[in-house]
Amino acid sequence: MICTIKPGYKISYEKALLNNFNFPNTKINLRYLLCGPPKSHGEGIFYRIIQKKEQKCIQCIIFYKIQRFPYHPHDYHPFYIYLDDDNRVEFIILDDGHHFSKLISKREIENKKSINITIFLLDHGLTDQINRFSKPFKPKFVPLLPEQIKKWWLINNMAQLKLRTKLIDPWAPGLIPKVPTQKKSLLYRLNYILPTKIFTFAEENQRFTFRDEVFCPYCKTMETLDFMPLHQDPATGKYFLQKQVTCKNSHRYLIQYNFENGQIEYR
Ligand SMILES: [Zn+2]
Repeated sequence: MICTIKPGYKISYEKALLNNFNFPNTKINLRYLLCGPPKSHGEGIFYRIIQKKEQKCIQCIIFYKIQRFPYHPHDYHPFYIYLDDDNRVEFIILDDGHHFSKLISKREIENKKSINITIFLLDHGLTDQINRFSKPFKPKFVPLLPEQIKKWWLINNMAQLKLRTKLIDPWAPGLIPKVPTQKKSLLYRLNYILPTKIFTFAEENQRFTFRDEVFCPYCKTMETLDFMPLHQDPATGKYFLQKQVTCKNSHRYLIQYNFENGQIEYR
């Protein structure tokens, strides 16, 4: 058994709730610039709705079969839309590059008639900072079924789906920034993909991520996880991910992602 949702939460796929991203208090427009939208067979926006008591989160993962620059098969960029009990958008978080999460707050949503989420540049990262030049597209909404998640998780190469603990729990600690990220321009977004950083930002802004996090057992330094090699226990046949981590202070420790309980374990 592979855990694809935190116990106690419910999954649904109601297209009526999705309503092509027309919500009572805002409309979300999907656009693209300097890249194409996902449109090949098997590509699209995979979605599922997670319910935790009165709260709902629409998890969306933009999936491409290939990213050309830098090249790798499988490319995933998430954004999550959180709804209140009247199905109004409470806030949005999106993958602002390298799976860091950026908050679009309730105040920003209420100040505008609509929100543009633009797939921008060749790495297919997302931004809400572009309002001109980009082109709209009609997304293909594909239900994100548990089988699909398992398939993505069990890919043993670099571009496996990196969302694990924060996919099974969209309210997990370390995911939702407390305040909107301070950013003046798109330089913020470019900063992530260039080999040389063009400016530094406050540490506060970098703390929140869609990826799994681990904390060094010796100095508590946080590391975010990328690819983790896939293993299978020969005795039980169970799959797990395991990786040796070296923290910023050069401490080494072994971590494992346990698919059965959806948790990171320290070995
Ligand atoms: Zn350490």
